[in-house]
Amino acid sequence: MKREQVFEFFRRLAEANPSPTTELESSNPYQLLVAVVLSAQATDASVNIACRPLFARIKTPRQMVDFGENQLREAIKTIGLFNTKAKNVIALSEALIRDYGGEVPRTREELQALPGVGRKTANVVLNTAFGEETFAVDTHVFRVCNRTGLAPGKNVDEVEAKLEKIVPQPFRRDAHHWLILHGRYTCKARLPECWRCPVIDLCRYKPKTPPPEERAKSSAARTGSRASSTARTAKGRTAGTPKANHSRSRPSRLP
Ligand code: SF4
Repeated sequence: MKREQVFEFFRRLAEANPSPTTELESSNPYQLLVAVVLSAQATDASVNIACRPLFARIKTPRQMVDFGENQLREAIKTIGLFNTKAKNVIALSEALIRDYGGEVPRTREELQALPGVGRKTANVVLNTAFGEETFAVDTHVFRVCNRTGLAPGKNVDEVEAKLEKIVPQPFRRDAHHWLILHGRYTCKARLPECWRCPVIDLCRYKPKTPPPEERAKSSAARTGSRASSTARTAKGRTAGTPKANHSRSRPSRLP
């Protein structure tokens, strides 16, 4: 995608949603960090459901450590991989108390050294809690970047490096939110909703998904033509079917 097209791509996503943010609910950087750790291979909605009552009483690493692994496991048991995640959250909370006075560190290296925190989690926290221009590449961002030709790459690191290089100001800070939301609600994995996409003319994906009415019409046409061809085949078969033979000889008597 050319430089002017990249600018236009983000300009339109920004116009449609001027203040994008994560859908994970939290009230401070620590809760955000925990929510992002819990969201690995789980939906934001499922994390929010489990975390609402949890975060009403747990706001600091110290409170989490006092809460303990068993209670935490119970509180997040509706989220996938909850056993491992409970362990990691307690371990990272202990590390925050021990090494950072209970605060969330602000560098990628320090964040990634915490239990259960990978590059994507660090990027989300740096961006959403501290306003850094980082590009967290999740499954939605990876798909949108490759499909559209915006920032193609064989793996998440390549896509992230390309985004770093091509995303212009003033879109760098919110770019990953726009891409996640675009992938989650419009450029969906199974069936991208191209007919209502604001960047349809900039995207290289082919064939574009037509509107539902058009798809319904062509599917009805396909069903109709399948039905008439089935009817023709059945007719042909009937015509060629030999008449029932009623003159079957009686079985010969057994000796
Ligand atoms: S046109 Fe379709 S494939 Fe391209 S970005 Fe929009 S929804 Fe995705």
